[in-house]
Amino acid sequence: MEDLTAIELRERIARGEITSVAAVESVFSRIAGRDGAVGAYISTDRERAMARAAEVDRRIAAGEEVGFLGGVPVAVKDNMCTEWGATTCGSKILENFHSPYNATVVEKLIAADAIIVGKTNMDEFAMGSSTENSGLKRTVNPWDTCRVPGGSSGGSAAAVAAGFCYAALGSDTGGSIRQPASFCSVVGLKPTYGRVSRYGLVAYGSSLDQIGPLTRTVADAALVMDVIAGHDPADSTSVDEGIAGGCSYLEGIDKGVEKLRIGIVPGLTTGADESVQRAVEAALEVYKSVGAEIVEVEMPHSEYAIAAYYVIATAEASSNLARYDGVHYGYRSTGAEDYVEVYSKSRAEAFGQEVKRRIMLGTYALSSGYYDAYYLKALKVRNLIRGDFAVAFEKCDCIMMPVAPTTAFRIGEKINDPLTMYLSDVYTIAANLAGIPGMSIPCGFDHDNLPIGLQILGPTFSEGKLLRIGRMYEKETDWCRRRPSFAD
Ligand code: GLN
Repeated sequence: MEDLTAIELRERIARGEITSVAAVESVFSRIAGRDGAVGAYISTDRERAMARAAEVDRRIAAGEEVGFLGGVPVAVKDNMCTEWGATTCGSKILENFHSPYNATVVEKLIAADAIIVGKTNMDEFAMGSSTENSGLKRTVNPWDTCRVPGGSSGGSAAAVAAGFCYAALGSDTGGSIRQPASFCSVVGLKPTYGRVSRYGLVAYGSSLDQIGPLTRTVADAALVMDVIAGHDPADSTSVDEGIAGGCSYLEGIDKGVEKLRIGIVPGLTTGADESVQRAVEAALEVYKSVGAEIVEVEMPHSEYAIAAYYVIATAEASSNLARYDGVHYGYRSTGAEDYVEVYSKSRAEAFGQEVKRRIMLGTYALSSGYYDAYYLKALKVRNLIRGDFAVAFEKCDCIMMPVAPTTAFRIGEKINDPLTMYLSDVYTIAANLAGIPGMSIPCGFDHDNLPIGLQILGPTFSEGKLLRIGRMYEKETDWCRRRPSFAD
């Protein structure tokens, strides 16, 4: 049962061949045996999951219809609000925060009869690329436990890779779904900005944040998208484009794309590890063998993407994180003498180093006298990058490149050098700045048996096509069937 995809599992559950209770039990026994070493979950709720699974089984036995994810164990990143348990965002400041409501995506998972088994670890407030910035615990990569799982959705990627759930949700502000997916050999999709509701997602960089699936296969990602995508009146930035006609990502996933034109950006990957470059080139050969044409496109402003991102994301974070003042939410210092001290001590004691660094950077970039020089300039760069993609997509259906310049790095290797850490996102950030969808799919392993991801970017609202393109590759290869030996 552990080797099944989410789609296979839901079909067997629907046919009564496996009960949801048995699936949930088996996931929890794996978690009990191995999550002590991996550290994927911040919290799990066995009782709640078992009760819901029993309810799904009862409905199936009674001949009732169940939802798209009927009885399938899934996980959500701990920056998505749940009415039960805590929503910590990987931070000490929210360690005991109990949300009064569910995020829209959580409501949608529940409505689809998914069984949420737990909340996954992450870099504090989603700031990081290795999950090492979590204020609560460490997560390791199931492929090599000396290495990071990537981040910031490292717990979700590790949970899917290690078989602690059949699908998970992550959030991606600058690469946080795609990069951990690549490091852990799972599929990760960052949808178009606005495609999935952010209501109930703890905000980091609100103009960049987007929720998406981490799954074992491309088809599973399509299934989860069918559940979570769509307009939500509670999130004014969500859109109903293309959904209104009853769009299904899973339907037609096997149809492929005729006369597929794949854009590549010459020279872009010169800094990437050789093994990464080779795996991506090999993936392009697979596409050529099924009839795709490769065209060269230019991204003249991509070299400024990281700089622009770290101004815009930190500026938005400094404003979003102002609400954690020891009064409204979460941790309050006990040593404060007056209200100013309540603010400063609570924040000083409970925010981690990276979060403080970013609040300071963002506050600086927004301060009078610097606003034009940094923030406004970054917004202009953002527009230029958006324009680069618009021009490129006139010539091609999608652009392919690596997800990250390296495979999973060693724990501790980059944590004391924030700039090197920021460079992990060199290929992923542009998609967030432009608001376009991007997907990471497993495309091989390096000489240390560490996973490599292929990134596929498309124009806004092209996730249906991206999924079909990803599926074309998946059908030709068997990377997605490989599991870490740790998970056996
Ligand atoms: N690694 C990037 C950062 O630290 C992106 C994080 C994310 O996408 N949440 O900001």
